[in-house]
Amino acid sequence: MDLGIKGRHALVCASSKGLGRACAMALAAEGVHVTLTARGAEALTKTANEIRKAYPGVEVKEVAGDITTPAGRDDALKACPNPDILINNAGGPPPGDFRNWTRDDWIKAVDANMLTPIELIKATVDGMMSRKFGRIINITSAAVKSPIDILGLSNGARSGLTGFVAGIARKTVKDNVTINGLLPGPFDTDRLRNTNAAAAKSSGQPLEEITQARMKANPAGRFGTPEEFGYACAFLCGDKAGFITGQNILLDGGAFPGTL
Ligand code: NAP
Repeated sequence: MDLGIKGRHALVCASSKGLGRACAMALAAEGVHVTLTARGAEALTKTANEIRKAYPGVEVKEVAGDITTPAGRDDALKACPNPDILINNAGGPPPGDFRNWTRDDWIKAVDANMLTPIELIKATVDGMMSRKFGRIINITSAAVKSPIDILGLSNGARSGLTGFVAGIARKTVKDNVTINGLLPGPFDTDRLRNTNAAAAKSSGQPLEEITQARMKANPAGRFGTPEEFGYACAFLCGDKAGFITGQNILLDGGAFPGTL
């Protein structure tokens, strides 16, 4: 299926690894020129080279920096000043007990997982609307729909973003600019592997046992693959996806038990 976005430009934040990388790969497969960001330059260059090799017709730019800082965002927007597609992503806040979180912990989480995507939307959405095409995807979390107690910082900050987007996504769609959330459940990325390793360490249970139990707990009997996430993202960025906006789409193997 040709998604009709060949030659478009995408800014894919936090994309040297995991879900962001998979989104960049899937967009590049559709002929979209991609600007990648991450803090670590080495992994970023590795991913950029992999995309260049796999899709030689696609222009790939790399911007090393922290997307949750004004300087990181400025650099990313300098490299990709008029994106047609914006994939908002950053690392998630740490788990913990809310009794131990300080105001600074909250500000950091809100900055990274709510205000950073809002700043990037603010910087790009008017250009998209004037050009009559834009696709904005916010990578949030299944925890927005089904909160996980120890991830309170994530639940709170990402729900704030989701609430904000619910309003503006209805204002931009008239100009063919859609804004949607993709809510990952368990996907097999470094983040998930690190979480499993931490659980193994704190419980004393073998890592393999924890991993198997967590896979078994999902109706699909496994974790999602980053490729599956990337394809869903590319679909929502497609030329013909202009009637889907303000939605929050769970990719969780059916783990959320609701009918709707
Ligand atoms: P991952 O495999 O750890 O990859 C994270 C990517 O983001 C890396 O490329 C990392 O590179 C980059 N990054 C992190 N912080 C950044 C920052 N401040 N500025 C720029 N780049 C940054 O994580 P993932 O699993 O893809 O997760 C992506 C998002 O989805 C996270 O917010 C996570 O909480 C959320 N999520 C994931 C799952 C899951 O099962 N995987 C489930 C629910 C929610 P550098 O470290 O070099 O910057």
